[in-house]
Amino acid sequence: MGKPTGFLEFKRNAAPYRDASKRLLDFKEIYTAHDDKRLTTQGARCMDCGVPFCQSNDGCPIHNLIPEWNDLVYNGHWHEALDRLHQTNNFPEFTGRVCPAPCEGACVLGITDPAVTIKNIEMAIIDRGFKEGWVVPTPPTSRSGKSVAIVGSGPAGLAAADQLNRAGHTVTVFERADRIGGLLMYGIPNMKLDKTEVVQRRVDLLRAEGVQFETSVNVGDGSNGGRDVLQMAQEFDALLLSTGATLPRDLPIPGRELKGIHFAMEFLTANTRSLLDSNHSDGAYINASDKHVVVIGGGDTGTDCIGTAMRHGCRSMTNFELFPQPPDTRGPNNPWPTWPVIMRTDYGHQEAAQKFGCDPRIYAISSTGFVDDGNGNVKAIRTVDVKFNNGKFENIPGSEREYPADLVFLAMGFLGPEHAVSDPLKIDYDPRSNYSAPYGQYQTNVEKVFAAGDCRRGQSLVVRAINEGREAAREIDRFLMGSSDLP
Ligand SMILES: Cc1cc2nc3c(=O)[nH]c(=O)nc-3n(C[C@H](O)[C@H](O)[C@H](O)COP(=O)(O)OP(=O)(O)OC[C@H]3O[C@@H](n4cnc5c(N)ncnc54)[C@H](O)[C@@H]3O)c2cc1C
Ligand code: SF4
Repeated sequence: MGKPTGFLEFKRNAAPYRDASKRLLDFKEIYTAHDDKRLTTQGARCMDCGVPFCQSNDGCPIHNLIPEWNDLVYNGHWHEALDRLHQTNNFPEFTGRVCPAPCEGACVLGITDPAVTIKNIEMAIIDRGFKEGWVVPTPPTSRSGKSVAIVGSGPAGLAAADQLNRAGHTVTVFERADRIGGLLMYGIPNMKLDKTEVVQRRVDLLRAEGVQFETSVNVGDGSNGGRDVLQMAQEFDALLLSTGATLPRDLPIPGRELKGIHFAMEFLTANTRSLLDSNHSDGAYINASDKHVVVIGGGDTGTDCIGTAMRHGCRSMTNFELFPQPPDTRGPNNPWPTWPVIMRTDYGHQEAAQKFGCDPRIYAISSTGFVDDGNGNVKAIRTVDVKFNNGKFENIPGSEREYPADLVFLAMGFLGPEHAVSDPLKIDYDPRSNYSAPYGQYQTNVEKVFAAGDCRRGQSLVVRAINEGREAAREIDRFLMGSSDLP
């Protein structure tokens, strides 16, 4: 519970990001180092609220034991705090960096005061654990003789792999990309989550514990040199599909075929791959340097496109959002402890504002067409302002405008999973085209085939993918052994 009077004595003091003008010059992580004194003081603000909503369903999806580790940090028991953290979270170094922290939205102190800096403390505990050498490979002492194939190496697949390996099963993770990690590796950019020092470090740990990884393996109907999923289903005792929600939403307006208009993931994936392969010297990425860039769509993906283009040195940055600007404080239909739908300024917005003098976001705006430069390249984008009326958007007459655009990134969310793995298996789909498997059970309509993460629930968060991977592992273990000790 921290210090009984801590919440009265100390103000929230979240660790700031590195200075925007400096961090723009590199792709290194945006975070500053935490010092012990500030962390213990912040841990002291945890207030023994009785019912810790931070770890309830409205708060942390993996039910991290937050008040317990806040108290342990306040009292300087870092190793014990790490043990508590690992009980519920396989990868706190990922969530401590990229989680939007619904726990803080549900913090009881947050009813009257700014919430406890839970996410900062989580990151500090695990970073200290690695620094002190407390996080070491712990392979299982015996093997069950059962084998599990996991298709897709994002946080859902990795969490399931970790849990199933601990239970003694032989786990092989198949990934079509050349590196392991799913969107942890090739979606979220390096400045938010370091690929070598953070993502690969955990993958190496899992490998040292016995998880096997096969990269550049496209699982499906076996054509084009890929791996046949029907054969895999015979070879392995169980199969987990954790293939993510990878189909992007398109913007079918006039001029969509012009050069210079890309899905966000084309931009982000190529950027990270080129950064890791050659520090961008191979030129194998979409370069936004000196370009007028328009990012269509808010959310994490849009922010990451902004941050990446800013680091390339774009000439201007504009970000469109169809919905109106959210309020600065919770609305009456958005009470505590639900996730606060309020105006937030993320790292990319800060950086654009710092460099160009204004926030790049324009709200309640709809794109109506792309303008050709005469050579098949996009040179501008036409828009109209909209208002939300009776459940639909209406154009505001006379508000038509044109914005210069040499590069446009479409970051309007994802429609669902691809079906290359699921169709051959004859998996049922839900009405949104996700793999159908009841929450909590994760079993599809096909014997011994399970599904977890964004491919099952639709586009979501890293922490929810970890939760699904953990729970699916428990159900697979139960299926294989008749019962399970996994949480
Ligand atoms: C740009 C971006 C930024 C984001 N930022 C954040 C953030 O800051 N915080 C947050 O909490 N969430 C964020 N998210 C969401 C989060 O990354 C996802 O919810 C999460 O990664 C989903 O995990 P997953 O394991 O279900 O799938 P994914 O991470 O999508 O992994 C699926 C993997 O399956 C592989 N695969 C697919 N089909 C096949 C096949 N046929 N054969 C072999 N492999 C296959 C894919 O290559 C991929 O590696 C972001 C998403 C995006 C796109
Ligand atoms: S995983 Fe996310 S929700 Fe859970 S404690 Fe960490 S920051 Fe909060």
